[in-house]
Amino acid sequence: MDIRFEQVDFTYQPHTPFEQRALFDLNLTIENGSYTAIVGHTGSGKSTLLQHLNALVKPTKGTVTIGDRVIVPETNNKNLKPIRKKVGIVFQFPEAQLFEETVAKDIAFGPKNFGVSGEDAARLAAEMLELVGLDASHLERSPFELSGGQMRRVAIAGVLAMEPEVLVLDEPTAGLDPQGRKEMMEMFQRLHEERGMTIVLVTHLMDDVANYADHVIVLEQGQIVKAGTPQEVFQDIDWLKEKQLGVPTAATFAEKLLAKGFSFEELPLTADAL
Ligand code: ADP
Repeated sequence: MDIRFEQVDFTYQPHTPFEQRALFDLNLTIENGSYTAIVGHTGSGKSTLLQHLNALVKPTKGTVTIGDRVIVPETNNKNLKPIRKKVGIVFQFPEAQLFEETVAKDIAFGPKNFGVSGEDAARLAAEMLELVGLDASHLERSPFELSGGQMRRVAIAGVLAMEPEVLVLDEPTAGLDPQGRKEMMEMFQRLHEERGMTIVLVTHLMDDVANYADHVIVLEQGQIVKAGTPQEVFQDIDWLKEKQLGVPTAATFAEKLLAKGFSFEELPLTADAL
């Protein structure tokens, strides 16, 4: 399933004194099976863009096409549920949204809400828990007894239990230690490679962009200022120097890649290269 934005504008609280235009004339395509990184400074519009990917918000102007559903400003809020199932969003610090008594119930909550039988939802919960790297002994535990990293995995399992075609990740490794971060990024990579899942990753970590993404979108003040393959984006070092993007900055990172003997043509790199 492709997701396409055509001339999308989004304004918060339009026609009020608090009006804030967040997206300007966005044109982009998230292709089925791709791994897209979205980068940009705080306030550049990344979160607003993400919320369009499963119609949590509708464009103020323009068209968002999600698979065969066309979302325009006038689109009725009813019947958007199938889109929410096809496009799963893992928001920042998703563990804050855990609430059930047990891990199994928390993961099964979404599917049950979508009419999946209790038995099938329980089966999905067990399968997804394993997929995120936790064993079945965690199923009957309270999510609140787990470590922060484990809680995050449970929250992600809850999104995966909806069996989305597109997985949207907003800074999914924020606050994790380097090992936890690597394991989580490798988990997303497996979902991408083995299950053909389309991934959209918001990140400020340039090595994750270099290692995993096959497409990069750079946002600035609600507009796309650059888009292309990681090769194309990283090799424009002079432009990156101006922008001071990411941690380390994308320009520093690109220079480090070259100093280590990599060529931009090799991007994305295998996960352990850096
Ligand atoms: P990012 O995710 O890149 O930090 P956002 O999409 O959160 O960017 O924000 C884009 C712009 O929209 C910013 O100017 C921000 O202040 C504004 N904005 C975000 N959320 C709201 C909101 N709920 N009400 C009003 N303005 C908002």
